[in-house]
Amino acid sequence: MSAGLRLNIDLDRLCGNWRRLAAIAGPAECAAAVKADAYGAGLEQAVPALAAAGCKTFFVALPGEGIRVRGAAPEADIYVLNGFFGDCAAHYRDHRLRPVLGNPNEIRRWTAWRKNETAALHVDTGMNRLGLSSAEAEQLGATELAAAGIVHLMSHLACADTPDHPMNLAQLDRFRNHKARFGPLQCSLANSAGIHAGSDCHFDMVRPGIALYGGASHPAATSDPVVTAQSRILQIRHVGKGESIGYGGAQSVERDSRIAILSAGYADGYLRAAGAGDDRTGADVAIAGHRAPIAGRVSMDLIAIDVTDIPEQQTDKAEWAELFGDQIDINQVASRAGTIAYELLTGLSHRAERIYTGKAA
Ligand SMILES: *Cc1c(COP(=O)(O)O)cnc(C)c1O
Repeated sequence: MSAGLRLNIDLDRLCGNWRRLAAIAGPAECAAAVKADAYGAGLEQAVPALAAAGCKTFFVALPGEGIRVRGAAPEADIYVLNGFFGDCAAHYRDHRLRPVLGNPNEIRRWTAWRKNETAALHVDTGMNRLGLSSAEAEQLGATELAAAGIVHLMSHLACADTPDHPMNLAQLDRFRNHKARFGPLQCSLANSAGIHAGSDCHFDMVRPGIALYGGASHPAATSDPVVTAQSRILQIRHVGKGESIGYGGAQSVERDSRIAILSAGYADGYLRAAGAGDDRTGADVAIAGHRAPIAGRVSMDLIAIDVTDIPEQQTDKAEWAELFGDQIDINQVASRAGTIAYELLTGLSHRAERIYTGKAA
């Protein structure tokens, strides 16, 4: 109750987004990417809610995240996308984590270490990040596959958010070739955007992340906001025409103005790049049902908002301003700051208070 920034996280909406994606992807299984603390929403709350909604498979980046998923979903299949970390090998056995193996060396180390643990194989189809190259994949026969306990074959799309990008078909084609060569393995290719790229991309399983949490993924995607960020209004002050606001005097007001000061800043994970200046427009916030623009730079703990155009009786009564949520689209805030909702959500700091609503809370 003492926080300057509070995050209202609606678990019913999270599950609603998952069900909608599962319906589009069906009959393919719908998994959930819950890396980076469930994209900032809170892994310990998001995973049980999604498991209760019917989600059986979770993808994380790191083994430590996998251990936390295991604590929240004892029966789930858990894949560790960043693979097999030899210095904490016991975690994979103790918590039944499946590494996603993506290079020949890693496959050798895993195969030498494993007893009956299972894993996924990542083949690269054009992203050039993780995953076996085509040449490396061709070196891998049925014997090696069995020795590594591979039960799942996956790849990752680089440009699925751009429906007409030629890379999509090229990657799909390469993935089909791998699938044909490796025989009957459970296969997955699509992230959130890939789910909307058509049923050709669905295979046996889809792996949405951002669309679960209300972020934009694809022009055809709709998903409900899950995280609403609200900041306490500390004071409203009068700033005379020609005076400047905040660090660097970055923005001067062109008229006598009323400026609301909010108790949130980049230390809470709000984006400094969403600030404004004489030469640039920043993001908007919502106060008492009205949109109002940021005035000047975003500081560590404070944000100034120009509320001159909102009736004084309304701003006087308001105690909280919405930084993003139902009224202010998170994707728009991110885009004003030159980034994407992924970065804004995963950067929300521990200083912000998280309040959960919904059946699963
Ligand atoms: C993060 C990730 C996903 C989920 O991606 P979104 O774009 O958030 O839906 C799926 N697959 C892999 C390999 C990932 O790294």
